[in-house]
Amino acid sequence: MYTLDQIAEITNIKLVGKNNYSIHHFLNDSRSVLYSNETLFIALRTERNNGHNYIPELIEKGVTSFLISENDFNTSPYSDSNISFLVSIDPLKTIQQLAAYHRQQFSIPVIGITGSNGKTVVKEWLYQLLKTNYSICRSPKSYNSQIGVPLSVLNLNASHTLAIFEAGISQPGEMETLASIIRPTIGVLTSIGSAHDEGFKNREEKIQEKIKLLLGSDALIISGLEKNKISESLQKKSVFVSEYNDADLKVKFENNTLHLKSKNVDHTFKIPFSDLASLSNTAACVGVMLHLGFKEKEIAEKIKLLQPVALRLEIKKGIHNSLIINDYYNSDLDSLKIALTHLQQQNNRLKKMVIVSDIEQSGISPSDLYHNLADLFSQYEIDLVVGIGKEIIQHKPLFKSNSLFFESTQNFIEQFRFINYQFSDAGILLKGGRSFGFENISRLLQLKSHDTVFEIDLNKLTENVNYYRSLISKEVKIMGMVKAMGYGSGSTEIARTLQHMGVDYLAVAYADEGVELRASHISLPIMVMSPEEDAFEDIINYQLEPEIYHFKVLRSFVAKLDSMGITEPYPVHLKIDTGMHRLGFEEQDFNELLKELQRTPQLKVQSVFSHLSGSDNPDLDAFTKEQIRIFESAYNLLEKGLGYTVIKHICNSGAITRFKEAHYNMVRLGIGMYGVGVNEKEQNKLKNVGTLKTRISQIKNVVKGQTVSYNRSGKINSDTKIATIPIGYADGFSRALGNGKHGVYIQNTFCKTVGNICMDMCMVDVTAIRCNEGEEVIIFENAEQINVMAQAINSISYEVLTSVSARVKRVYVQE
Ligand SMILES: *Cc1c(COP(=O)(O)O)cnc(C)c1O
Repeated sequence: MYTLDQIAEITNIKLVGKNNYSIHHFLNDSRSVLYSNETLFIALRTERNNGHNYIPELIEKGVTSFLISENDFNTSPYSDSNISFLVSIDPLKTIQQLAAYHRQQFSIPVIGITGSNGKTVVKEWLYQLLKTNYSICRSPKSYNSQIGVPLSVLNLNASHTLAIFEAGISQPGEMETLASIIRPTIGVLTSIGSAHDEGFKNREEKIQEKIKLLLGSDALIISGLEKNKISESLQKKSVFVSEYNDADLKVKFENNTLHLKSKNVDHTFKIPFSDLASLSNTAACVGVMLHLGFKEKEIAEKIKLLQPVALRLEIKKGIHNSLIINDYYNSDLDSLKIALTHLQQQNNRLKKMVIVSDIEQSGISPSDLYHNLADLFSQYEIDLVVGIGKEIIQHKPLFKSNSLFFESTQNFIEQFRFINYQFSDAGILLKGGRSFGFENISRLLQLKSHDTVFEIDLNKLTENVNYYRSLISKEVKIMGMVKAMGYGSGSTEIARTLQHMGVDYLAVAYADEGVELRASHISLPIMVMSPEEDAFEDIINYQLEPEIYHFKVLRSFVAKLDSMGITEPYPVHLKIDTGMHRLGFEEQDFNELLKELQRTPQLKVQSVFSHLSGSDNPDLDAFTKEQIRIFESAYNLLEKGLGYTVIKHICNSGAITRFKEAHYNMVRLGIGMYGVGVNEKEQNKLKNVGTLKTRISQIKNVVKGQTVSYNRSGKINSDTKIATIPIGYADGFSRALGNGKHGVYIQNTFCKTVGNICMDMCMVDVTAIRCNEGEEVIIFENAEQINVMAQAINSISYEVLTSVSARVKRVYVQE
């Protein structure tokens, strides 16, 4: 598309290096490299991460072209290689400039979408509605940021006849840049809600900023806003589709019907959704279609077929050590590519498999379509392709790799017992049109267990870590605490997310937890807080770093190093007891400790640290300050005596917010990243990560005088509707919660327990609500509910999270 020379010229920057490949792919995520020679990696330095750190790894993977920032990377070691560097002062600006240039090469209709909510849904729906009439280029996923937009626009090519891009902003000033890249000819403003309010002085400023995207458009479709909110000149070219009285097309919703009314028209559309957000998003789509000249009847036909947009992929543990990635809502080539990239980003020990259905209404001829599909699979080196459907089966010979074909989902399910062994140690992507019912295949492939799951949202975890990053200065490192199965959330998945985010360190309680992380290809340094003598050999073999808290540990660990013939200084972490009185060297030990370390060249003190006893409790602030004082005297003495600098850390989550003066050069982040804050103010900044939920097994009416559960513990005093749910004390739903001490949430209603909690089940009172067997039951889905449950067992949130037992299936979701 563009050679490196051309890019340098268009954006007026320097090119260093010999290769001058044509670049077809632009990338800022090191995990998704595919066509290495044709890819330009854009190294971005953000508050949270530095893309330049990934360059050596990418060079190893075969990437040869990089866009870097002048002072962030030393190119001289590569001067004799075939690696080329575009050197800019600001790589982000450069790629934005290139995208803006690229956009100007096209004179097709471009729909630009902004708003607080619904951008991605409206984009995907417009795609569904228009794909048979146009060849469409659209933003992948919700690529709507300062980098996402240029990457989306750079996908435009000569075959496209329409483009749909979304633009998202979080602070003033950003929209002008995005508008200059997208240059929409049709602007769409969806609803204005509270998202990103904090970046703006007030709602008004946010609206005005968003509208900047639309200024240059020939037509605007605005839903969810009053007309008088925008300037008169804009009003002239706008079509207002809203519930407000001054709208051009006034929207009225009634169950599944959308009425659009104006002086001249009165449209009625049946739509396959009934929630308010979907109705308002549909209204925006209808506005666009009317503007594009579609007739009411045609719109009505297409609207009926709208499908829900899966905004995230669902990742589940599968049979035979496999991982199931469910993405069964969309089935078109672009969204398939996104899903394949996800598959590629999973653990690289896994084989890669895809189960795919016929692709409906693609707008291209079946033979081209399945050619492209087969090509994609060989590019992504898919180990096994399963094709399901009457159409794909006809194109069987195109698929070169190992493949299986079935006429229908039913057919696959019938044959499954003969082929299920093939689905082992694999990442399996399920990508099927809605009519194919791939959820039935997903059910077959999932690890069987009961209905109770602990769902972990990895995007929310990322947001929480980023919140804490915003509180510490750039030089301060983060140690992610993933002990106790990542506070119940699953250590490898959490560790993998943290590693990708560029967190600096991990900590586990026991060596075997560290060994497990290494087995899952986690390469970050890992501190082991309770290194047992039996495990020293594992610690050394797996490059784990022990906490040294006692002279006895110090000596026996050194003896182990000696016996294994290790001569390089081994990294260890010194634990100082400043008042917790758990593990660690105390004040009177410091001098002797220093002397001993000076005599022990086998050890390299990587860090000196201590733990606060009550960092979250304002009543203990004087004590906390004293702990900090003792810690400072300890590390001053040790650092001076050792003659080298060490990492110093004392803050846990609570202290990160409350003791900024004690961040030193690392903080240890635990409960906060899992979504539970030390106080209300902090809680408001955090996102919920874990949801423990299950389903109702049975409902019965129990009459007055009867009893429920063991020992006739639950006395029924008036006729009561009882729901039995499959979670008991063996799952982590403590027996102390029985007999009305606590409850669960069904349809947002708190339903109290009745009688004793059993090992695998419990009973709750659902008299007050209309509910069905199979209906969802929430045990907890936010910090408040976790805290209420903790109080009911006289404990704290930490215990609630870590008590969710291993037999409860963990499900990970990620955008
Ligand atoms: C668990 C632990 C932490 C994390 O504490 P949070 O309160 O969960 O942030 C920090 N340091 C040590 C030594 C720990 O054991």
